[in-house]
Amino acid sequence: MKNINIYGAGLAGCEAAWQAVRHGAHVTLYEMKPHKKSPAHHSDTFAELVCSNSLRSAEITNGVGLLKEELFRMGSLIMESARKTQVAAGGALAVDRVLFSEYITDKIRSHPEIGIVEQEMTSIPEDEITVVATGPLTSDAMASYISNLIGGNSLHFFDAAAPIVDAESIDMTKAFYATRYDKGSPDYINCPMSEDEYKAFYKALTEAKTAELHEFEKGEKIKVFEGCMPVEVMASRGEDTLRFGPMKPVGIKNPATGEEYYAIVQLRRENEEGTMFNLVGFQTHLTFPEQRRVFRMIPGLENAEFHRYGVMHRNTFMNSPELLEPDYSLRANRNIYFAGQMTGVEGYIESAASGFVAGTNAAVKAAGRDPFIFPEETMIGAMAHYVARGDKTQFQPMNANFGIIPPLAQKVKGGKKFRNEAYAHRALEKADELAKILEELV
Ligand SMILES: Cc1cc2nc3c(=O)[nH]c(=O)nc-3n(C[C@H](O)[C@H](O)[C@H](O)COP(=O)(O)OP(=O)(O)OC[C@H]3O[C@@H](n4cnc5c(N)ncnc54)[C@H](O)[C@@H]3O)c2cc1C
Repeated sequence: MKNINIYGAGLAGCEAAWQAVRHGAHVTLYEMKPHKKSPAHHSDTFAELVCSNSLRSAEITNGVGLLKEELFRMGSLIMESARKTQVAAGGALAVDRVLFSEYITDKIRSHPEIGIVEQEMTSIPEDEITVVATGPLTSDAMASYISNLIGGNSLHFFDAAAPIVDAESIDMTKAFYATRYDKGSPDYINCPMSEDEYKAFYKALTEAKTAELHEFEKGEKIKVFEGCMPVEVMASRGEDTLRFGPMKPVGIKNPATGEEYYAIVQLRRENEEGTMFNLVGFQTHLTFPEQRRVFRMIPGLENAEFHRYGVMHRNTFMNSPELLEPDYSLRANRNIYFAGQMTGVEGYIESAASGFVAGTNAAVKAAGRDPFIFPEETMIGAMAHYVARGDKTQFQPMNANFGIIPPLAQKVKGGKKFRNEAYAHRALEKADELAKILEELV
């Protein structure tokens, strides 16, 4: 039986270990706790939830709700534990965080084919199958090793991302496609503002509530802000600063009327299909409800559906489209897999899902078989494809959402709820097929 190394017993590492042994591998799981802990980890157990105890929506018409259902049907340890330790939380799935982690720790520790080594890992062997899942707060020595392995510019330590909205939720009776000075093709969507609209927006933006920084991020705040300034910080420098920065109106005319504007917010295509657009230059540290309130004041975005809110936080992640395949293996050395938040998935469940794919594939590789690629119509497969095939030039971590799933063959009438239901049914049919295949994979 072939051994697989797994680094990190977090959400991704535990799921990867569980799937790997399920498919006949032996696993050595290396975890630096309890000897060394990241600034956000406090307990000695595995799969620690470092912040909220909510695993977010339980509805299959929500991206992460669908991902959870797929994982459950396919035999995920993280989801098994979540269902066993859940607490009442309305439409969300929340867990008792202590019981949740203890359940997973017991399962992993008592498995005869999983050996545990409590040690910080600082390098990756080139000729052994290894899944690296050391998380967004990977220890410094390991981060520096990975950075050398993949090239210094491909590992980021902060996430400074602008919000992404659903293309269909943009009101194109107010917004329009145009390019500055008519140069190149008109790929940007422009949301125009009058002077009054700008002033009201400016006031709301500068008065909006920002998210709390984690204690350990406070010392690193300056570094984040120098590289990529949050839009609200830029705004606080003066009423016109944004009009000379991300809201610059010069050179942009409405092609239908020839009209020019006091300020303009530009939206850039986030994916090839054009189903998602990001607000250019709007990286932000506002709380999520405040982003929804303030950014919906932008003409054309009154009913915007947010696929991802803007964030600014400490986060070690790779420029994965340049580096990884959809089985989460490193293109330059297919013995090495990465999993979890560091691959550019965002969230507890998304991290576990990438561990599911990487662990399965590590075992498949150990058995001498070809990679097992999860279909893009499933949320688990769509995330793997986003990570491997997303935009190399502006790759940003992403939650599970319907914007990354291939469009349906036919347009669904009746609005977003019905469309998402159709996506979910298509995905779950595939997940049921996958569940059967996975039973006999190796
Ligand atoms: C402060 C913070 C708050 C977050 N809050 C939320 C939230 O509320 N909801 C949400 O959905 N997502 C949240 N996330 C994002 C993300 O979902 C979690 O970080 C998630 O735990 C990522 O899973 P993972 O398996 O990639 O990493 P982790 O769960 O962090 O697991 C990594 C493991 O690797 C170990 N490790 C690190 N370096 C080494 C090494 N060199 N050798 C051996 N072991 C090592 C760590 O001790 C840890 O156990 C948050 C992230 C951060 C940083």
